[in-house]
Amino acid sequence: MSDLVFPAMPTPTVAVAGTSARFPVRRIFCVGRNYAAHAREMGRDPDREPPFFFTKPADAVVENAATVPYPPETSNFHYEIELVVAIGVGGADIPAERALEHVFGYAVGIDLTRRDLQLAAREQGRPWDWGKAFDQSAPIAPIHRVAEVGHPSAGRIWLAVDGVVKQDSDISKLLWSVPDIISIASHSMTLRPGDLIMTGTPENVGPVRRGEVMTGGIEGLGEIRILVG
Ligand code: MN
Repeated sequence: MSDLVFPAMPTPTVAVAGTSARFPVRRIFCVGRNYAAHAREMGRDPDREPPFFFTKPADAVVENAATVPYPPETSNFHYEIELVVAIGVGGADIPAERALEHVFGYAVGIDLTRRDLQLAAREQGRPWDWGKAFDQSAPIAPIHRVAEVGHPSAGRIWLAVDGVVKQDSDISKLLWSVPDIISIASHSMTLRPGDLIMTGTPENVGPVRRGEVMTGGIEGLGEIRILVG
């Protein structure tokens, strides 16, 4: 019998498209400012920065078609539509040329952000966790396996609020490609099966309010739909 002092939390999971299988989530890594136009709208120079990372807890994942409560302590709750990479084979010091061998699949995700808290932390040189890693901050649509979709490197990425398109770009505009991101991350942290990497959002992030519906998608990877409660 277990000697745990209380039952362990169940492992958070994400649906795998076209199957009843589930992808068990270990960690969620997120890349900051990985599209030039978004870096500029956040007041940064996209040409001078190596990629940087922050994280969300695994239990921040939210199922597609769910309702996300408007989070506390913010009056500027933002959407960021993103390509999500699901790692199926772990590794450290992965060369970029071998990086795609570590990918299980790809999904559409939203990096929900308490922008006011993030920017206050940024200005004060404090951690981003309260702005980025709060409860239910990572809606992820079903993961499409590499065997099904290959390794998409181009295609429309978009997000709409109540049917009005707000973000509309192409994943070919990623400053740091998926192989680069995997390689660079793995030289600093060992990647494990179950890790998710949110690869950054294109420009025109913005606020969402209670009762609004976010829909978004990436060409070839389906769509996501989240209601703000
Ligand atoms: Mn983001």
